[in-house]
Amino acid sequence: MNPKMQAAFVEQFGHPLVIREVDIPTPGPGQVLVKTEACGVCHTDLHAAEGDWPLKPGLPFTPGHEGIGIVTALGAGVSAVKEGDRVGVPWLYSACGHCEYCLAAREPVCAEAQFGGYTKNGGFAEYIVADPNYVARIPAGLAARAAAPLICAGLTSYKGIKETQARPGEWVVISGVGGLGHLGVQYAKAMGLQVCAVDIDDGKLAHAKKLGADALVNAKQGDPVAEVIKATGGGAHGVLITAPSLPAFKQGVGMTRKWGTCVLVGIPPGEFPTPLFDVVANCITIRGSFVGSRRDMAEALAFAANGKVKADIELQPLSAINSVLQRLKTGDVPSRVVLEFAGR
Ligand code: NAD
Ligand code: ZN
Ligand code: ZN
Repeated sequence: MNPKMQAAFVEQFGHPLVIREVDIPTPGPGQVLVKTEACGVCHTDLHAAEGDWPLKPGLPFTPGHEGIGIVTALGAGVSAVKEGDRVGVPWLYSACGHCEYCLAAREPVCAEAQFGGYTKNGGFAEYIVADPNYVARIPAGLAARAAAPLICAGLTSYKGIKETQARPGEWVVISGVGGLGHLGVQYAKAMGLQVCAVDIDDGKLAHAKKLGADALVNAKQGDPVAEVIKATGGGAHGVLITAPSLPAFKQGVGMTRKWGTCVLVGIPPGEFPTPLFDVVANCITIRGSFVGSRRDMAEALAFAANGKVKADIELQPLSAINSVLQRLKTGDVPSRVVLEFAGR
């Protein structure tokens, strides 16, 4: 009999995940097997389970793209990692390696990119098959549970802040200070920026203040755009929108200073109205940002290894996944839930 593992599957969009016992997969040529120690739960996993986006994963699939674990087996021809290495299996599961985007370290937009926990089975399972050329190398001294939120939430917020091109001393707005945003506040402070945190939850704003935010705006009260313009003396040089909520996007554009950049990373399904005259006349840049390159990943992890950034985590077992996703839906997760695997 083949050795077995527990794994959670989305079998139907919009239905609870089903935890089943299945065969531990065997890594094929050029692949590795990773024994999961911890896996963060991202709001993207909720979008995936609900089938929110135009590009839909095939059913059934195992979500999870913040899986950290130990390499326990190598497929034929693997030399990039060795057994015993601690790695992360991220959203960017693999890419072609030779298109114009891969060559420019823009591999997340490669047409052949595969996505962990979406087009490939991910980390809500005791074992993950991974591509050794795209795993995250976890710095020594960073525990699996501490590293998990960094390989998506940390990477995406760090890269998004870089994409604003805000310089030290300038203002950034972090809109949505949950999983991504609570790390975004810390990255921005470590990068020498002034931070205005925006959320609809006073508890999350209070937490952002503890993490170093210089100004707080509750987007549910009064006129949040006017509040940000007042707090930042004319709007933020960079705005990072992580909120999975459409109204936050139009507001975020309004919060952007003249000649500033508004970076979109939250992906609620739908579209948002853009005030064209204001964007044009104020020379505002609106740009999307999708996780980050492998180089960005190494940088994002180094901030944590150097003690500049630390994820706030709540540990849960795999068996709690459906209640965790339900809590994410209602905004009831303070920062990041990390599933911890006991191992057997
Ligand atoms: P989360 O649920 O942990 O946090 C979302 C935060 O946004 C919460 O604090 C919530 O209170 C706040 N919020 C909700 N409505 C708001 C509003 N109108 N204004 C301001 N704040 C508001 O979610 P997360 O894991 O941080 O993910 C956030 C989004 O980012 C999701 O849509 C996810 O799919 C997306 N995401 C994108 C990328 C990417 O590469 N672009 C990567 C990871 C996640
Ligand atoms: Zn994610
Ligand atoms: Zn490519």
